[in-house]
Amino acid sequence: MKYFSLSNNEIVFPFKEAVIKGLAPDRGLFFPESITPLPKAFIENIEAYSNVDIAFEIIKQFVGEEIPEKVLKQIIEETIPFDFPVIPITENVSTLELFHGPTMAFKDVGAKFMAKCLEYFNEESNEEVTVLVATSGDTGGAVANGFLGTKGVNVVILYPSGKVSDIQERQLTTLGQNITALEVDGVFDDCQEMVKTAFLDEEIKPNLTSANSINIARWLPQMFYFFFAYKQLKSQHKEIVFSVPSGNFGNICAGFMAQKLGLPVRHLVAATNVNDTVPNFLKSGQYDAKPSIATISNAMDVGNPSNFVRIQQIFDNHFDKLKEHLFSYSFSDEDTRMAMKEIHSDSNYVADPHGAVGYLGLKTYGLKENQIGVFLETAHPVKFLDVVKNTLNVDVEIPSQIQKVMDREKERIPIKSYEDLKGFLNS
Ligand SMILES: *Cc1c(COP(=O)(O)O)cnc(C)c1O
Repeated sequence: MKYFSLSNNEIVFPFKEAVIKGLAPDRGLFFPESITPLPKAFIENIEAYSNVDIAFEIIKQFVGEEIPEKVLKQIIEETIPFDFPVIPITENVSTLELFHGPTMAFKDVGAKFMAKCLEYFNEESNEEVTVLVATSGDTGGAVANGFLGTKGVNVVILYPSGKVSDIQERQLTTLGQNITALEVDGVFDDCQEMVKTAFLDEEIKPNLTSANSINIARWLPQMFYFFFAYKQLKSQHKEIVFSVPSGNFGNICAGFMAQKLGLPVRHLVAATNVNDTVPNFLKSGQYDAKPSIATISNAMDVGNPSNFVRIQQIFDNHFDKLKEHLFSYSFSDEDTRMAMKEIHSDSNYVADPHGAVGYLGLKTYGLKENQIGVFLETAHPVKFLDVVKNTLNVDVEIPSQIQKVMDREKERIPIKSYEDLKGFLNS
């Protein structure tokens, strides 16, 4: 499969190059040249297939000949060795839990898939690459875990000092091996800026690549979730509405790709916190990117969602078409805490703040009689322990994945400036 740059359709690269580069040379996001719907019979019989078989059917056209089928199947097996359960919350609302992976956020799937693809491509080349990534919390842990021990790949993670939760920091700093964490004296935007500068700096010696959701190998596997949910809900014979807690809009964009592949989805709702660039755009037709505002659903604190251009492409950059398919609403921290309480009192379910924003998206959308609403639980509540504890007054049991990192020593290198980063990368 070939991918073109959304800034210039003439710039075209095969899957392998697009994964290795991350972004097109003109800084545009890559988009597949074609999207072929899956056979109807496959979707109608989805219960008969294992998750690995489903994932393989979905992803194979996007990889094409560049990874042999046998290897691709192995990669998928290593990517999704855990469950994606749909849990009923109320009569017509369920949640799709995406947090059963090693770092307990949905980003584990894309990070592992990307790591395994890069590892395969590196076997042929022997060249080392350095994955350089800035994180505001969850990305760092998922990428560190996904790439741990991957041959030929070094991972350097920049995170803002004092701005990530204790658990998130441990997930970045306790792994060792090919993972290095740099603790930046600054905020997330400073980390991001340093990473961008490094990508453009010709004096940097290692080959750099990025591992955030603009990378097609992180973005596309997220289509799997929507099919796994459908498999579990199909026997109810209801229309499905997904509500996706959205920040950079990679996850919801994968939902629209699933719909393009023929998955029966009535609507997708992008639920945001007060970082409301997209809800405002749908109201006014005016796209005004804004600096991000800090909230209790911090993985969605994005003022200029990178993947939104991909969603626009899916709807041929046609505003009215987009408005028919995408519903988007924003919610304050106060709304979010109220929703966490409501979910807990109605069904005894402990939602994390991101999932709670998704739940609110369904309420505002207004489900009809014949519809079932599914909000994505994008992280385990334990990752946002303080907010969960002081909102719900409950204790959250620490799962074994998290317990493992609690006992290890944090190791990180403090840096203050871009020169420090450059010195580290070139040393
Ligand atoms: C990254 C993240 C999101 C936002 O996903 P996007 O694909 O960036 O929209 C939502 N919730 C959690 C917990 C996350 O880590």
